[in-house]
Amino acid sequence: MMIETGNQRRSSITLFSEQAQVHRLRLTLKILLTIFTLLLVSELFFRGFSSLALAMSASLVILVLFFFWVSADTSSVISGMVLWTVAVFITYACWLGNGIFDAIVLAFPCLLMLAIVLAGKLIFISLYAYLICALCFFAFVHNQSLLTGAILFEGLPTWGRVFSYIIMLTFFSVGVFLIFADIRARFKNILQKNASLELALEQLRQRSRFDQLTQLPNENVCKIDLLQTLQQQKSSGHILAFITLNIGNLNAIKMNYSHRICDAALKLLAKRLVSFANDKTIIYRFQQNEFVILKHSVDYRGISKFAEKMQQVCSQIYHVTDFDVSLQPDIGIALAPFDGSSMEELRHNSHLAMHAKGEDAKADFYFFDQKMAVQEQEKLQLTKALKSAIANNELILHFQPKVDLVTEQIIAAEALIRWISPEHGFVPPTVFIPLAEQAGVITDITHWVIEQSVIACKQWHELGFNKLCIAVNLSAEDFKRGNLLTHTMNALSHADLPAHFLELELTESMLMDDIHHIQKQINELRAFGISFSIDDFGTGYSNLGYLTKFNVSTLKLDRSFVMNICHSANELQIVKAIIEMSKSLGITNVAEGVEDKETAAMLVKLGCEMGQGYFWSKPIAQQDFIALLTEKSEELLGITV
Ligand code: C2E
Ligand code: CA
Ligand code: CA
Repeated sequence: MMIETGNQRRSSITLFSEQAQVHRLRLTLKILLTIFTLLLVSELFFRGFSSLALAMSASLVILVLFFFWVSADTSSVISGMVLWTVAVFITYACWLGNGIFDAIVLAFPCLLMLAIVLAGKLIFISLYAYLICALCFFAFVHNQSLLTGAILFEGLPTWGRVFSYIIMLTFFSVGVFLIFADIRARFKNILQKNASLELALEQLRQRSRFDQLTQLPNENVCKIDLLQTLQQQKSSGHILAFITLNIGNLNAIKMNYSHRICDAALKLLAKRLVSFANDKTIIYRFQQNEFVILKHSVDYRGISKFAEKMQQVCSQIYHVTDFDVSLQPDIGIALAPFDGSSMEELRHNSHLAMHAKGEDAKADFYFFDQKMAVQEQEKLQLTKALKSAIANNELILHFQPKVDLVTEQIIAAEALIRWISPEHGFVPPTVFIPLAEQAGVITDITHWVIEQSVIACKQWHELGFNKLCIAVNLSAEDFKRGNLLTHTMNALSHADLPAHFLELELTESMLMDDIHHIQKQINELRAFGISFSIDDFGTGYSNLGYLTKFNVSTLKLDRSFVMNICHSANELQIVKAIIEMSKSLGITNVAEGVEDKETAAMLVKLGCEMGQGYFWSKPIAQQDFIALLTEKSEELLGITV
């Protein structure tokens, strides 16, 4: 438990709070009680029991009562009452004593001072008026010789008088000193609080303007700078480039190393970018992996050269602790005023440029051009059409056999989706699957594919091909809603197909996102007998850890390696190593994209177990697939007969 010290307690009380008022009133009362006690003692000592002593005693009792009565609720009323009690007492003492020549007159200014500290304007003014009236009255009665009790200059012995002066002077000074010390302390505390508040506000202001990790100015600052620059640009005739630099492999770095290393690499990247900064180049960090550079140039070529240099510098290895990390910068450039006149437009267009790798996939950076905007419009149209594709029965499934490389028998098939749009014609899955992912309709598509695939597989079984398995491709989005298990199990039970005939294909990049969430769902699906394979192995991060971590049963070697094994020793070595590695882990391997006999034979030699590719069959519709199965089984029967 924390014990609050007196100072801390005081510092938590503000200058004008009720507690502060109670505190000050109690302090005043203590001082007044001390003065009254001492005056009473002095009176009794020098003059014995008199009317003044009686008045002092009565005042003392009243003040003691006030002292115990003080609380936050009563403090303002009691302040007034205390002041009036003292005022009445001192005027009575004057009346009994020497009028305006009495030592007690010294208390008048002190009382007014107390009124300023303790009470409001009204009490001060009324006390002030009262004391002035009292003085005038005493002067008048003195002149008229009506001051009956007056013992002018004689009544009290000289030292008794001095003693009374001293008591009053000392205690009122001490009292005023203490009260002002209290006020000073509270005021200091308020000033300190104010200073720390200002500091916090400044930090907040800084935070709203600067990225915390790299200390680069952020999006808010860029918006303001851009607005100013665009206005100045009109007269300068310069080109302003809005350059977006995205780090494409940030998630992979986090996965393969750690968040700490990723942050350290980003800091180093910021440092490298800052080395380009000058009065014509400003660097900002917008989001996690998005940096923006505003670059002035007299011409287009200047910007091109700059982007090239920046790409080279940023692609160089980053040494972080013991690791060599490489970042993949993607750069898109929009030029003002041609490609936009606001940050939203320029940013959007620079992003379009950055993602437009289509024709020139090897370029280091891309300038926005109007074609990209047209393509984006087309994409939007396509996305719109895709949303109604399932309901309009525009999607169909094709099946591509997976073959046992030794026996050449079909043992499974992969379901591959096809979209024939009445508006856009045949749209390849490589085009519409990413759109479906972005538009949030991929999960509906996946559910449909699983439903149709298991129905198709059940049909093969009913036709006698009852060992065939079916593989379905998944997207990372499919794990996000968390209902994959329910839908898959419903589809299997609806088709009456045992779960072990279904395989789900994952890509490595999918396993980067929310690993725990994905792993949990994979484990649940596996518990029901569904198996998993890693698709396109070799193109991603080729992290062997996934294979064991996610308990995959099959590894699919990517077509880009397989197709070259007969012509490239390099790729042959890669494929050989992957096959050996998967075998040592007890994982089945499938070679994708086998297009000729030579490749198939080489794969058998390398110990690969299964193959898939145009050599055996392209993906075909259900009826054609059944015909193929029948043809193959007849061939087999023919051989055996
Ligand atoms: P993938 O899963 O790697 O599918 C294999 C792709 O390679 C298919 O292209 C197939 O037609 C093609 N292919 C098979 N054998 C050969 C060959 O010997 N030579 C050549 N050149 N190509 C071959 P497809 O059907 O165009 O699918 C492309 C990609 O679209 C798929 O790659 C997959 O990533 C995605 N995809 C297809 N259907 C679905 C689906 O239902 N759901 C999801 N999420 N993705 C799908
Ligand atoms: Ca696949
Ligand atoms: Ca594949």
